[in-house]
Amino acid sequence: MKLSDFKGLFKRSIAYIENIENPFGNYYIIKLKTDKGLTWRAGEHGIFKLIDQPVTGKKWRAFSVASIPEEGYMLIGIKLRDTVSSYKKALINMKTGDKVRITGPFGWFTLQNETSPIVLIAGGIGVTPIRALLKDVEKENAREVEVIYTSSDFHLFENDIKTIQEKDAKINLYMLNNKEETQQEIQKAASKYGNNAYYYISGSQKVIKSVKRLLKSQSIKSNRMINDPFFGY
Ligand SMILES: Cc1cc2nc3c(=O)[nH]c(=O)nc-3n(C[C@H](O)[C@H](O)[C@H](O)COP(=O)(O)OP(=O)(O)OC[C@H]3O[C@@H](n4cnc5c(N)ncnc54)[C@H](O)[C@@H]3O)c2cc1C
Repeated sequence: MKLSDFKGLFKRSIAYIENIENPFGNYYIIKLKTDKGLTWRAGEHGIFKLIDQPVTGKKWRAFSVASIPEEGYMLIGIKLRDTVSSYKKALINMKTGDKVRITGPFGWFTLQNETSPIVLIAGGIGVTPIRALLKDVEKENAREVEVIYTSSDFHLFENDIKTIQEKDAKINLYMLNNKEETQQEIQKAASKYGNNAYYYISGSQKVIKSVKRLLKSQSIKSNRMINDPFFGY
């Protein structure tokens, strides 16, 4: 984590809802049109405050940005919990043109360099910043990439990720739905790349803790692990 990772904290902008998609169950994709000139690095997250919406309780949430600026829009992906919060109820019912105030994006879940292998480990909705990192890698790629994506119910952004992987022989993709296979793939990646790779871990605090413990047991140093905790799951 560097001081420059927080530079974006001082950025404030307004974005407009373009559309909201519900591809499966509790999963939603929100597409936003941002102010001209707003930019961000793949993997960063923003603070999203809904304007003129009936939200009780906390009026903002942190969400990773799932798209890159070159796509021309900002994507966020969310999963509703069993008890849907007032914030998320309001968010999924917003209409085209409704406004959202964004602080950032900023953060440290970003690519460290252009050549080190990367192992991208996503649990469930934790895939959002991983999609952005893969979109960035897709532009020009000189490294080995392992994607270990596990979800017990639905793989959000599955098609986007598969499309990127199919075009690049340096990317290996494992779409999984259980803990045992996920741990096996993580162990295989750790023994293949050791401390030459960076390990990006995105998911609930529980997932992050358990993956870090596993990597540590495989002698991976903590300065090769990068994580964005999804507080709230
Ligand atoms: C860097 C970062 C990136 C993130 N990116 C994403 C993302 O891409 N997509 C995404 O969906 N989320 C993301 N999150 C998490 C997001 O900010 C929210 O915390 C999460 O989505 C839950 O929001 P919520 O409105 O459903 O729950 P909240 O209402 O915020 O509840 C959060 C927690 O409080 C508990 N809680 C709430 N109400 C009660 C109650 N009455 N009694 C007891 N416990 C209660 C819940 O069990 C839950 O654990 C990210 C978080 C961070 C820090």
